[in-house]
Amino acid sequence: MHGYCMRCRKKVDIQHAKAIVMKNNKPATMGTCPSCGCKVCRIGKG
Ligand SMILES: [Zn+2]
Repeated sequence: MHGYCMRCRKKVDIQHAKAIVMKNNKPATMGTCPSCGCKVCRIGKG
């Protein structure tokens, strides 16, 4: 599962990825960046 890290400004492997539902009821996947540890979010189911 890949996501785009805003801090690293590159695609990274999402660690600890888990499925969430955003405020607009769209499914998304949220996890942490392996490089900097900040949150990475990806639209769509994981
Ligand atoms: Zn990062």
